[in-house]
Amino acid sequence: MTFTTRFAPSPTGPLHLGHAFSALTAADMARAEGGRFLLRIDDLDQSRARAEWEAQLKGDLAWLGLTWPEPCRRQSDHAADYAAALKTLGAMGLTYPCNCSRRDIAAAASAPQEGAPLIGPDGVVYPGTCRNRPLSSAGPQDAIRLDMAKAIAALPNLPGFTETGPEHAGQHLLTADYLLNGIGDAVLARASMGAAYHLAVVVDDAAQQITHVVRGADLFTASFLHRLLQALLGLPAPIYHHHRLIRDDSGKRLAKRDDARAIARYRDDGATPESLRSLLGL
Ligand code: GLU
Repeated sequence: MTFTTRFAPSPTGPLHLGHAFSALTAADMARAEGGRFLLRIDDLDQSRARAEWEAQLKGDLAWLGLTWPEPCRRQSDHAADYAAALKTLGAMGLTYPCNCSRRDIAAAASAPQEGAPLIGPDGVVYPGTCRNRPLSSAGPQDAIRLDMAKAIAALPNLPGFTETGPEHAGQHLLTADYLLNGIGDAVLARASMGAAYHLAVVVDDAAQQITHVVRGADLFTASFLHRLLQALLGLPAPIYHHHRLIRDDSGKRLAKRDDARAIARYRDDGATPESLRSLLGL
């Protein structure tokens, strides 16, 4: 299969140096392999996505010298695909509705008998308050969660994945212990948004025939959840490459609000794509 990778920003703010590093790393890998580099617009959160940010991010990527096939995939066009995947998991008996607020979850997870709450790739590991609610009781205010214990039991064997990034290169097998205690009952759909990121990303990567997922090391643990969802849905397993993170001077990961690191700011200050590459160590 042709090496195919993607860069999947959310159009909710300016692209910063970390995004430039991610996009350039993915595109360089695709070029080296004679493969394809795709752009995907991750605009699940319609309350925050803006057409202006999308136009600006495309302008920044083009300025960096990147090209991609148009029209690019946009998550907001694919609600039906995510709903179908959610329905499949529901029909397998693996999902349940949940109306706990973040505050409910934090309180239940930090109850004295629970010890310190564990934070996984889907946030605080869910303490299971709504786990016995039938899916038929789901209403518009509910999120839908994956029942992790049932999901594990539904697979004859737990799968693994190949990682080629610098920090965790090698084969990684999913374990019931990590899935249950490090991730827990992840949210697959949110009341206000439909599909949640973890479900949408596996559906999108399969639909786009992504062979290599290239993204930041902050998402390495999320890959265990993504690989599990792929196995449950019968989707192919891409190879993962989690690259180092670009940090600010204090060592913190850059976030969208760090406008000082926005690519647009460097462009305005006279940077060239080449000078930005060398700043990033590429
Ligand atoms: N929209 C996601 C992000 O910006 C994409 C993550 C991924 O590449 O899977 O974090």
